[in-house]
Amino acid sequence: MPKLSDIFGQEAAVRVLRRALTHDCLAGTYLFVGQAGSGKNAISLSFAQAAACLTPELNPFDACGNCSSCLRFVKGTQPEIVRIAPAGDSTQIWQFWTRDNKPPATLSLTLNYAPIIGKRRVYLIEQADTLTESAANSLLKVLEEPPPYALFLLMATHPARVLPTIVSRSQTVLIRVAAREDLTRFLESTHALTHAEATLLTDYSGGLIGEAVTLSTNPAMREEISKILDFAETIPGAPRVRALKLAENLRKLATGTKALAGLEQKTASSDAEPEDAATAKERAGRGQLTAVLRILILFYRDLLTLRAASESPSLSNFSEQKEETRLINGDRVTSLSRLSQKGSVERWMNSVDAFLLAWRRLEANANVNLVTESLLMSLVSETGQ
Ligand SMILES: [Zn+2]
Repeated sequence: MPKLSDIFGQEAAVRVLRRALTHDCLAGTYLFVGQAGSGKNAISLSFAQAAACLTPELNPFDACGNCSSCLRFVKGTQPEIVRIAPAGDSTQIWQFWTRDNKPPATLSLTLNYAPIIGKRRVYLIEQADTLTESAANSLLKVLEEPPPYALFLLMATHPARVLPTIVSRSQTVLIRVAAREDLTRFLESTHALTHAEATLLTDYSGGLIGEAVTLSTNPAMREEISKILDFAETIPGAPRVRALKLAENLRKLATGTKALAGLEQKTASSDAEPEDAATAKERAGRGQLTAVLRILILFYRDLLTLRAASESPSLSNFSEQKEETRLINGDRVTSLSRLSQKGSVERWMNSVDAFLLAWRRLEANANVNLVTESLLMSLVSETGQ
């Protein structure tokens, strides 16, 4: 569980939160706004821990890690720091206030009682953009005049979907996407990844630290990526008659891709609508295929980079060392260089376009067999050279 000092790439946000903690003048409600996977959870949890800490470090302000509040928080048993996630697709009023026929709800049970373990009671509303209108309205009065010990931390990916009256009662904290080079360095230094692995994950996650960190802590991820890249290397030299077989291999590969597709982390919420099993499987399958395509497209970007470099005198001056840094899959530079010569810059550009088209078709629910077959037909060359 990270502390404020461990939060990476959000210096401005951390500075604002620390200043408020240092002067003991917290707003009652903070709204953390950022893309999914940008690290909203990590920063708001570390802020919650620091705000509830009994004996915080002061310069700079942070949770101590040793008081009874911190110790319980790290074990996930600090009952005064409550996380509220959507029940199904929305966050509903009965999750805050006890309603007939529903289990006792957190705000009804606790809001009026001063904390006894930590310094504050903290309520984290994980997806404030999913609050139903009645749930949001029921919070307004509390957010207007919260008890002095209460702290509400709301997170939102789509701030436009949060009721404006809630936004106006909150202090907004913007969580930005980290610079790519910074994220790569961070993954290398803190997650023991090689430079090539860190670069690939940075690009794969689009610079989103939450996703990159989740993936880098999953040991299955390495093997999956390496299998996908091995498969990628079989495509450029394959003749046209192999296209359908390769499409079949691609679908098989997708079936085995679980870590990258984020499949085993998903826990089905008991409150969610029961989904038709076939529909769920179909959706998971598309997610797996998309994950494989995301790695393959990075491979093809490398082919394009190398081919373009070998054709342009000004670019071809860069040394092997530099070349490795520019490439996403720098650890495969030898085979990439060889394969890149099998096609022209135009061929590799068309290949990247073919991936983007396949991706869009998948999102539009096109038939998986057709999408993969037409993709592979575009990728293999006429002559197999
Ligand atoms: Zn503490």
